[in-house]
Amino acid sequence: MKFDVVTLFPNFFISGLQSGLIGKALSRNIATVNLVDPRQFTTDNYRKVDDKPYGGGVGMLLKPEPIFAAVNSLQVLPRRSTILLSPQGSPLTQDILQTLVTNYEQLILICGHYEGFDERIRFLANQEISLGDFVLTGGEIPALTLINGVVRLLPGTVGKSESLKTESFNSSLLDYPQYTHPPVFKNMHVPDILRSGNHKLITKWRREQQIQRTQKRRPDLLEQWLNSEKH
Ligand code: SAM
Repeated sequence: MKFDVVTLFPNFFISGLQSGLIGKALSRNIATVNLVDPRQFTTDNYRKVDDKPYGGGVGMLLKPEPIFAAVNSLQVLPRRSTILLSPQGSPLTQDILQTLVTNYEQLILICGHYEGFDERIRFLANQEISLGDFVLTGGEIPALTLINGVVRLLPGTVGKSESLKTESFNSSLLDYPQYTHPPVFKNMHVPDILRSGNHKLITKWRREQQIQRTQKRRPDLLEQWLNSEKH
């Protein structure tokens, strides 16, 4: 997967892309990330990337010219999607991440800043994605989140592909409780069943825990799961 990120703050990404499993995956070329600063594409002496909104109002908007020039400078691959990070987009979900992994070989991510974009920048994108129903100062955290979620799904990033299959959201159910050593910690005990060695009973217990946990925390997801189990 090739990511091209159009951002006024390329340095913001450095640590997030170098650390942990994502850092390892990128160093093994499972994915590549190209950071492009639209300021490099300005033509005026002040390298101006923002301007006041027509009609008045607070804050500054990203100007269209540097963003168009930055996007148009990119080498494009046949199976690509250009995504605007915006609180007005579709909220990011595990399903969206999976769809991106399945359908594309290149993701061009455009990060907004200030009061947002000049509306014409929207024409560059074929989808808009939001991190959730709240407003951040810029699209960098949403872009890094999307990259993290996509790279994590690429073959080779996570050691055992099994651990991707059982976790939260893959079947609309939240993950089951997990324990490691020691068996007792501050008088809190690992459930006996997990130490029983009976894998059939462990699988059954885990599924029951998933259902109970999802019912308590995310009844909306449980309903989705019940409906999908009917088909
Ligand atoms: N006035 C804009 C609006 O209401 O749509 C919000 C602008 S926000 C302060 C600046 C930029 O941060 C946005 O253009 C977008 O790129 C990014 N951003 C902020 N919140 C976001 C969210 N929840 N999801 C994705 N991007 C977000």
